[in-house]
Amino acid sequence: MASSEIEVVSSESKTQPEQSPNGNAPTVIDVFSASAYGDFEKLRRFVEQDGASLSKPDGNADSMHWAAVRGSIAVADVLLQNGARVEATDINGYRAVHVSAQYGQTAFLNHIVAKYHADFDAPDNEGRSPLHWAAYKGYADTIRLLLFRDASQGRQDREGCTPLHWAALRGNVEACTVLVHAGTKQELTVKDKAGFTPVQLASDKGHRHVALFLSNAQRAQSKHLGDKICHGKIGGIGYAPILFSIIIFLMFLFVNSVIAAPSLPKITAIVGLWGWTALSLAVVSLIMFYKCSSKDPGFIKRLEDLGRDTDTEDPLLNVDLNHSSVWMGNWSQLCPTCKIIRPVRSKHCPSCKRCVEQFDHHCPWISNCVGKRNKRDFFIFLCLGTLTSFLGAAITVQRIWTAVESLHTEGRWIHYVVVQHPGVVTFLVLDMIIFIAATTLTIAQASQIARNITTNELANAARYGYLRSPDGRFRNPYNHGCRKNCADFLIQGYTDDDEIAWPPLHQAAS
Ligand SMILES: [Zn+2]
Ligand SMILES: [Zn+2]
Repeated sequence: MASSEIEVVSSESKTQPEQSPNGNAPTVIDVFSASAYGDFEKLRRFVEQDGASLSKPDGNADSMHWAAVRGSIAVADVLLQNGARVEATDINGYRAVHVSAQYGQTAFLNHIVAKYHADFDAPDNEGRSPLHWAAYKGYADTIRLLLFRDASQGRQDREGCTPLHWAALRGNVEACTVLVHAGTKQELTVKDKAGFTPVQLASDKGHRHVALFLSNAQRAQSKHLGDKICHGKIGGIGYAPILFSIIIFLMFLFVNSVIAAPSLPKITAIVGLWGWTALSLAVVSLIMFYKCSSKDPGFIKRLEDLGRDTDTEDPLLNVDLNHSSVWMGNWSQLCPTCKIIRPVRSKHCPSCKRCVEQFDHHCPWISNCVGKRNKRDFFIFLCLGTLTSFLGAAITVQRIWTAVESLHTEGRWIHYVVVQHPGVVTFLVLDMIIFIAATTLTIAQASQIARNITTNELANAARYGYLRSPDGRFRNPYNHGCRKNCADFLIQGYTDDDEIAWPPLHQAAS
């Protein structure tokens, strides 16, 4: 069977046991049907009082598998504490870990791994691990848990497919993203037995978004300088040196070609004052630029960081993942790359290779993430950029205006300015580009600050459960009203969302 013909396991592949003849309540007559219907009370009676044997085929693999399909932790506990084996397999070689991965029952999977030491990397008859199945079905949270627990990403099944092949084949964007960010990047170039890489499989099946994402990831890893420049990855420094050089060049051009140009009329005192104000603002912009690009944006400490700094007490790192009752819900808080449980509004940045608190976005132009600790500096930098470029443009236009006042024909004065003052024209064009970019970003950031929402949350709202109300509509629990949002941001630099963001972690740490 070629890799592109991987068998499809539908969500309905496990058929319900027969209904009772009258079609009403299901017939719960043994351990198997009690597990299938999640009838916890009857199940306990069968195994504890009636002494039903869990070593029979129906009472063993199938019962555990039904508990896995339903994600019923209580049923699994009764079965496993009364003789059922957690590693029991069916004819396909599926264990409970495979079935729970196929049905996205992440809490169940974590429970049997943590409490009963189920092998989360076990292969089925086709050599596929739970990670293969979670990738194929597109359960990103299950993938996060498995990667967090160090499940093997490079394992190839009998077709030579890695989990990434499967995620690409089905066009699961989020699954591919999690796998690529946490992976060694070698998986991107692994070929299956038919000779296909994950990128080729995705484009073969018409999953354009996935193919584009994977080929970009592949190019970012490439050794070619041109590709690296396109992705701003030279030594991880991004485009910050380019932006720094542009600002310095513009300041130089402004002084030489606009303020003190001998070919232009003598500058008046008031225009000169505005000119030096613009220059001073540009210097302050450079200071803010340095500040927001060099400052810690709110990187969350990893275990290895804690090892080096024993004085740090980070409650996040004290949470025991094996305490499975804690982990009934927010699996997106697991970072499989940093191996930490992160606060709700944070996200892993693949460029910085760290998780960032209140992650906004990674800005290649400052070569840093924008997050909880440097967002105010970033915003001030944007405001200064807007103001300075506006002042620069206004002074330049005024200077040109006084120079061409005597020339009346439209065509002539444009020709005159371009030929006589090329420095002024260059400055004006570059300055206007910066003005438009800075203004757009300032307005976007200001509107997000007023609503206390990050760029990442706006772009990926559908991914975050905490941004949905019980009826499934968008709801931002961090919006404390425009005035408080803005006041908190301007005074502290961020809003204090710990109480809302971290309840499960507080609960876990206590
Ligand atoms: Zn991370
Ligand atoms: Zn970053």
